[in-house]
Amino acid sequence: MSHMRIELSVVMPCYNEAEGLAQAIRRVHAVCKGLFLTHEILIIDDGSTDGSWAIVEDAAQSIPEVRGLRFSRNFGHEAASSAGLRHARGIQVLILDADLQDPPELLAELRAKMAEGYDVVYGVRRSRAGESWLKLVSAKLFYRVFNLLTDNPIPEDTGDFRLMTRRAVDAFVAMPESVVFLRGMISWIGFPQVGIYYDRKPRETGRSKYNFRKLLGLCIEAITGFSVRPLRIAFVMSMALFLGALGLTAVILIGWLSGRGSSDIALVMMVISFIGGVQTLVMGVIGEYLGKLFVESKGRPLYLIRDTIDKAALDAESR
Ligand code: UDP
Ligand code: MG
Repeated sequence: MSHMRIELSVVMPCYNEAEGLAQAIRRVHAVCKGLFLTHEILIIDDGSTDGSWAIVEDAAQSIPEVRGLRFSRNFGHEAASSAGLRHARGIQVLILDADLQDPPELLAELRAKMAEGYDVVYGVRRSRAGESWLKLVSAKLFYRVFNLLTDNPIPEDTGDFRLMTRRAVDAFVAMPESVVFLRGMISWIGFPQVGIYYDRKPRETGRSKYNFRKLLGLCIEAITGFSVRPLRIAFVMSMALFLGALGLTAVILIGWLSGRGSSDIALVMMVISFIGGVQTLVMGVIGEYLGKLFVESKGRPLYLIRDTIDKAALDAESR
């Protein structure tokens, strides 16, 4: 298919979505056909254990535009989306969750906006139906904290659902990191970017694969991957503490010299535990960056591919 121009790649990360996957593929295919686009639907099976891959194989039999990548195990949503961007061949690339919480029908609108001269058009969630309040609150908090601590703000209430031009995708793919945070990295590349509002649907099948632990992990990864400001904050805190301790020593010394003495155990305990607490925190922050260096220095791949389906390419070769 390499000799043919692919106008659009739809990248769909998928982890245990067997229930709704076949229908999702059909719906995406219908949308692309409706817009008369030459396209490919690239499904990245992130180590599913529920037969998702068999559904991709089936779909590829009846829809030649379907391609598949299967990871050797679960590497996570960010890795799956990255793999999709690396393997996509289209002039434009759409990232779309396989659970279709983000409606593919918005494609026309995304493309219209892109035609105005944007390289990245992302979907901003006006509403999020069917999510728990814990998820909503932690998501809100996440954008705020991230933007407070880093220099490359990411748009609030924005997921990975976005349309990108070839040069934006190429810029992303050129980044060598082995731990990725898509939204942050795509914001970092610059170029004209813009959002359009949409209402996020609840899941029709299956459950969310993001629990609190995964979200927290993503949050720490995202912030330490994007900014050294926490290190600076740690430094400023230690400085403030040092000055405070100096002041306190002076006060105690003066009290001692003037013969009044001061033996408020509670105060001392408070100061000690405060200092101890901040020190551990600072060590934790440093440890986080050290860990990051460690991971990057190993230079391991972001993911490993177990199987691929690429019928179109095979057909082109055998011709
Ligand atoms: N996903 C993935 N690997 C994972 C977790 C999720 O590829 O380890 C996929 C999942 O199948 C879905 C998308 O990433 O298509 C978003 O995940 P999910 O719907 O669980 O997240 P939410 O929409 O709840 O934020
Ligand atoms: Mg979802």
